[in-house]
Amino acid sequence: MATPTPRCSSTPRILNSSENIAFEEGCLSLPDFTLEVDRARVVHVQYEDLDGETKTVMAEDLLAVAVQHEMDHLEGKLLVDYASSVKKDMYKRKARKRKAAQSL
Ligand SMILES: [Zn+2]
Repeated sequence: MATPTPRCSSTPRILNSSENIAFEEGCLSLPDFTLEVDRARVVHVQYEDLDGETKTVMAEDLLAVAVQHEMDHLEGKLLVDYASSVKKDMYKRKARKRKAAQSL
């Protein structure tokens, strides 16, 4: 498997997107939490690179999901924000227990 190339982009904007797919996502910000989220399977994204040049990329499948996930973070939205209130409460309780156990 090839090593992925790091990508740096700012001010990303989705120009076009395809039909949605359901994808089970996790997030490094939310340990032990996964959730199936509907995301566009293909996104055409415009962004600025490190030199301030405007570029575009067509992202498909896992990369498209990752791009949309990271764009959510830029808007202050976390994966848990897609969860039902029941699942959100369950995660909060679990996180409090984990934090309490770590402070022992
Ligand atoms: Zn994340």
